[in-house]
Amino acid sequence: MTFDILTLFPGMFSGFFSESIVGNALARGLLGIGIHNIRDYATDRHRVTDDYPYGGGAGMVMKVEPLAACIEEIKSQRPAAKVILTTPRGRTLDHGLARELAAEEGLIIICGRYEGVDERVRELFVDMEVSIGDFVLSGGEPAAVVIVDAVARLLPGVLGCGESAADDSFANGLLEYPQYTRPPEFRGLAVPPVLLSGNHREIARWRRRESLRKTFMTRPELLESVCVTDDDARFIDELRTGGGDGE
Ligand code: SAM
Repeated sequence: MTFDILTLFPGMFSGFFSESIVGNALARGLLGIGIHNIRDYATDRHRVTDDYPYGGGAGMVMKVEPLAACIEEIKSQRPAAKVILTTPRGRTLDHGLARELAAEEGLIIICGRYEGVDERVRELFVDMEVSIGDFVLSGGEPAAVVIVDAVARLLPGVLGCGESAADDSFANGLLEYPQYTRPPEFRGLAVPPVLLSGNHREIARWRRRESLRKTFMTRPELLESVCVTDDDARFIDELRTGGGDGE
């Protein structure tokens, strides 16, 4: 899969994409990332990429022509790639959307700046507007990094053996259970004994129940769309009536 990122600040990406999971995936050729400087596509003498908004008001708006030239050049090489505009007005990124995007051949991600991009960019080129949450960033670059990271870890082979996206929060609709590593006790806090027991059936049951508990406590609405077993349903009932502590 290829990610093409359109930005006015190409230097923002080098550190993030050269390290860890995405960096390793790039080095192993499991994905490709192209960083495109929108300013390179401005044709005037001063390579202007923004202008005052029609109708007045604060701030500047990113001009349509350099973005159009940049998108069209990338599209000529990757016609199947989907064009994503980062914007607080977009569909909020979640696990389901990350999975949808991971099924694409390529993503062309536009990073806005200032007051955003001329609306005609959206009308002419954009397949989907994506937000990373109900807040306003100074630019789309952090959103692009979040999208690439969330999508890349779902691609085949990107996570090493021993790591699995299938066990992560949201993969089965629930939040993940608590994790512990050595030492078995720290400042009076002991690791739950079941995790040291070697009894894999009991460990799996404990983890499932702790997932249900975490989800019930912090994101109860997620439980409405999860497939639950009879045992899960009994445990959720206990949580609802203030029980479920003795596990
Ligand atoms: N005036 C815009 C508005 O009120 O919706 C906000 C513009 S923001 C300062 C500049 C750029 O940051 C946006 O064009 C977009 O690319 C990016 N951005 C800001 N918040 C975002 C979010 N929550 N998700 C994705 N991108 C965001």
